[in-house]
Amino acid sequence: MTSPTIHNDATHFSAQLISSNRITPATSAEEVRHLVFRTADLGFEAKPGQSIRVLAPGLYGNPYHARLYTIADPEAVSPESSEFTLCVRRCFYVDDFSGEEYKGVASNYLCDLQPGQSIRFDGPVGLVFPVPANRKADLLMIGMGTGIAPFRAYIRHLYEKLGGWEGKVRMFYGAHTGLEMLYMNDENQDLAQYFDQASFKAIQAVSPRPALQAPVALGQAIEQYANEVLEMLNGKDTQVFIAGAEAMLEGVDKTLASIAGSAIAWQTIKGVMVAEGRWHEVLY
Ligand SMILES: Cc1cc2nc3c(=O)[nH]c(=O)nc-3n(C[C@H](O)[C@H](O)[C@H](O)COP(=O)(O)OP(=O)(O)OC[C@H]3O[C@@H](n4cnc5c(N)ncnc54)[C@H](O)[C@@H]3O)c2cc1C
Repeated sequence: MTSPTIHNDATHFSAQLISSNRITPATSAEEVRHLVFRTADLGFEAKPGQSIRVLAPGLYGNPYHARLYTIADPEAVSPESSEFTLCVRRCFYVDDFSGEEYKGVASNYLCDLQPGQSIRFDGPVGLVFPVPANRKADLLMIGMGTGIAPFRAYIRHLYEKLGGWEGKVRMFYGAHTGLEMLYMNDENQDLAQYFDQASFKAIQAVSPRPALQAPVALGQAIEQYANEVLEMLNGKDTQVFIAGAEAMLEGVDKTLASIAGSAIAWQTIKGVMVAEGRWHEVLY
């Protein structure tokens, strides 16, 4: 987990919460909220793939507790203000020593925030998910959990702002259960509205035995599309985006190595993509 540096007040922005909606059903153990903020700080601009550093009130005399959250959509609303959205999972953790459960500071601060209240933040942080000049380029997204935030921003950019995409857009997305399929469940269908786009396909993976905390079958979902994925990986303009929990990367690498035929073959393909700036990660 990164520990972001605190910047001077002069570099901070502020934004007011416009709305906060839970996007996992009440029956789900996971609480994830979609938060819409408005800022009048026009010096701030974020693009898909980038995060902001939220400065939650600090504990134990610390001025701030700073944590990064990826923009789930940047939206210009008027010349005087702009809106952006975050997708935040309420985090808890259990102290190894005492066994007590603690609330994650920034995520609980954000999830408890009421419309009208303001946050301080800085950024943007991280690299922008690039849009290739070639509109026939294939775009492969692989992610889990709140890792969907940058994908949502990017997909909306492709289909709303650019008016569509000619290459294949494939999003492999894993969640513990169908209830936690963010932006594709009964609580919020934002991404489902692109299902009828000819170039877009979302492939969903859940845990085969959620009650036993079995891992999400993301690798199996990717393997079911092995031929298509390999063809995409070999495309000279293909961009790959990976987002979500860092622990996911090892499994994704193994799956892609199996699809490529061997670990060496995969490292060669990936090496070229990394060198050409076509491989992008937002991991945490
Ligand atoms: C580049 C980047 C982008 C991010 N984007 C998002 C985003 O869009 N949405 C989002 O919800 N989060 C995102 N995060 C994670 C976020 O920054 C915080 O780490 C998370 O919300 C926990 O912060 P906290 O202040 O609530 O918890 P803290 O008070 O910092 O407590 C964290 C404690 O809980 C444990 N912990 C924290 N997170 C987890 C976890 N996921 N699983 C298990 N244990 C955990 C840690 O071991 C630690 O001891 C991102 C992180 C990075 C680095």
